[in-house]
Amino acid sequence: MAEAYDPGNIFAKILRGEIPSHRVYEDDAVVAFMDVMPQGMGHTLVVPKAPSRNMLDADPATLGPLFAIVQKIAVAVKKAFDADGVTIMQFNEPASGQTVYHLHVHVVPRFEGVPLKPHSGQMEKPEVLAENAGKIREALAG
Ligand code: 5GP
Repeated sequence: MAEAYDPGNIFAKILRGEIPSHRVYEDDAVVAFMDVMPQGMGHTLVVPKAPSRNMLDADPATLGPLFAIVQKIAVAVKKAFDADGVTIMQFNEPASGQTVYHLHVHVVPRFEGVPLKPHSGQMEKPEVLAENAGKIREALAG
């Protein structure tokens, strides 16, 4: 049986506004913010507000609105950073690499010849995250 959802997880705290984040998008169902340990410039996380650990226990009704915004953010980050491509990743349970247990999708701009940095690697400077968030917001607006 799947483990229970823990409302004390870090993304639940971000969604409740208890922990700051560099938000780029929010609607009734979904929030997107910068990953603090980006695997590439502009690495963004797209997170449904509805609680679930991951895809395995999510209400299917959550997934349509979530992936509509994943696409929107993918298009925006490609434009914001003039990227050559976009990697979209999603992990389920520790064996897959999941470290935060609230469903989320990684959207990472990609550049020819530039490999991804390690998952949950080095913290990025807040000013860099703020600048990149600004570029994505601009791309979303334009
Ligand atoms: P997972 O391994 O669960 O798919 O990914 C969790 C992601 O959350 C990692 O890429 C990690 O860098 C990011 N992360 C961990 N803690 C925080 C945090 O406090 N704030 C933000 N914005 N991202 C976080």
